[in-house]
Amino acid sequence: MRKVFIDCPQNIPCNPCQFCCPTSAITIGEDITNPPQVNLEKCIGCGRCVAACPGQACFLVDTEFHPGIASVDFPYEYLPLPTAGMRVQAQDNCGAVLCTGLVVAVVAAKAGDHTPVVRLSVPREFAYQVRSIAHLPAE
Ligand code: SF4
Ligand code: SF4
Repeated sequence: MRKVFIDCPQNIPCNPCQFCCPTSAITIGEDITNPPQVNLEKCIGCGRCVAACPGQACFLVDTEFHPGIASVDFPYEYLPLPTAGMRVQAQDNCGAVLCTGLVVAVVAAKAGDHTPVVRLSVPREFAYQVRSIAHLPAE
């Protein structure tokens, strides 16, 4: 099952993730600079926080997507958008290439203010390192 993974270590004044979550799985609290705390048992994997986070710090991870393969959902606001079935380079938070990934879907839902969210499948060992993608160089 997809569950949220948040990589937001800075003490910044920000809290859309808390208020967009329909199940109150994310808590920031009284001090808006607190880093978000997640209750994974409450997360239903809806992805609203992925699209709502201005810092592109919320992800959905399913480590059981296929045997040995995880899926990772992340916002992607660059053009050209990838399309389902494309092979791309999966990148970490420094832009380094981790592996090749397969685009499973690209969704820009009204509930997410039409922010494109990419679902990528990657080898499971990279599930919590993937942050974005780059198109493969033309052959
Ligand atoms: S994926 Fe949905 S349920 Fe889970 S933390 Fe994000 S907004 Fe809440
Ligand atoms: S919305 Fe994103 S950047 Fe803002 S606190 Fe939540 S996870 Fe961090």
